[in-house]
Amino acid sequence: MKVKLVDCDSIEKIIKAARISHGSESDGMGPKDRILIKKLIEWGHESVFEHCTYSFLIEEVSRALLQELVRHRIASYTVRSTRFTLDYLIKDNEIKEAKSFSDYKRIVDRYCVVPNLPKEALSEFYESIVLSLKKIHKFLSYYHLPNDLVKYLLPESFKTELMMSINVRSFRNLLRLRTSKAALWEIRKLAMKMFQTLPEDHHILYEDLNLKLL
Ligand SMILES: Cc1cc2nc3c(=O)[nH]c(=O)nc-3n(C[C@H](O)[C@H](O)[C@H](O)COP(=O)(O)OP(=O)(O)OC[C@H]3O[C@@H](n4cnc5c(N)ncnc54)[C@H](O)[C@@H]3O)c2cc1C
Repeated sequence: MKVKLVDCDSIEKIIKAARISHGSESDGMGPKDRILIKKLIEWGHESVFEHCTYSFLIEEVSRALLQELVRHRIASYTVRSTRFTLDYLIKDNEIKEAKSFSDYKRIVDRYCVVPNLPKEALSEFYESIVLSLKKIHKFLSYYHLPNDLVKYLLPESFKTELMMSINVRSFRNLLRLRTSKAALWEIRKLAMKMFQTLPEDHHILYEDLNLKLL
């Protein structure tokens, strides 16, 4: 999993908005502004947080994670399209020829997110994914079927990538929900990684959530 913060608004936008509402002066993120941020959270006056937005480039996550992530409606997404890009698999002849466990492992690690399975189940996991990938390869290169049809063979673990833009208010909601132990392990890891990419001066916006850095 790779997460990169590609764009980030200044926290001062939040202060500017809040100071409009209060008719007061900023002290340039000094003690007065820091107290104000804590008060905004305490009062639930969170609409001012909507002025500050982040854009993340997220790579090497599963489609299982993707379908959970996009449930967060207050965000914008652009996802790598399997309809347009799946045929890159045609070029990978290693899929067709894979026989040994080490071949399987190398291929699955390249294309899929592998969960933390017990050793005895892991080899069966690799086997069943490679079987799907072999069929995908055959459907594309032998039957020349379009990506649109072949994509139905993809496992949920198949890696994808996306750009996600989200404002602070919505990101606070995402972190609250997705860093919980009840959340899927992969989205929990993603939520923490996203948080870790934020500049230090933004951490005050999330202090009440008591996030522990991994
Ligand atoms: C541990 C866990 C288990 C889950 N299990 C399931 C499950 O089994 N099945 C399932 O379908 N989903 C499940 N979800 C997904 C969950 O129901 C939410 O869809 C997801 O977390 C997005 O949260 P959200 O709606 O708050 O976010 P957003 O869509 O980003 O919305 C943000 C906030 O805006 C407001 N809002 C947005 N749209 C509306 C609206 N139409 N009406 C009123 N207010 C709105 C709400 O206040 C909302 O909290 C689970 C989530 C978690 C964290």
